[in-house]
Amino acid sequence: MSCIFCKIASGEIKSSLVAENGDFVAFDDINPVAPCHVLVIPKRHMNSMSELSDLSGDALSSLFALIDTIAVEKGVKASGFRVVSNQGRDGGQEVEHLHFHVVGGRKMGKIG
Ligand code: 5GP
Ligand code: ZN
Repeated sequence: MSCIFCKIASGEIKSSLVAENGDFVAFDDINPVAPCHVLVIPKRHMNSMSELSDLSGDALSSLFALIDTIAVEKGVKASGFRVVSNQGRDGGQEVEHLHFHVVGGRKMGKIG
């Protein structure tokens, strides 16, 4: 197993844990682009967002509940934040374990 995020999910590589539930874990990005920059990953390895459709409705709903918890923990729920998942080469995905960036604490530029 060479996937760095699998190693973070298993605790083999240390990270700054922000929150977790049964299926997902959230930790601070090592190279933050904003005061709040958290990565949310499924504990089980998957490469792309399309594989999320294998999960139960409860697991999917827990993903959004976790994002809400992160926003509260990081103090950005009221000010707002952005959730981004870079997919594949053109999307700029560097780590091939599905992840969502939760970014906030400063004003974001417009996308597109
Ligand atoms: P991507 O470019 O694939 O959307 O995002 C990968 C993110 O993972 C980057 O923001 C990068 O800073 C972060 N990252 C890469 N390696 C590590 C690591 O070992 N620990 C943590 N906490 N973040 C990492
Ligand atoms: Zn992985």
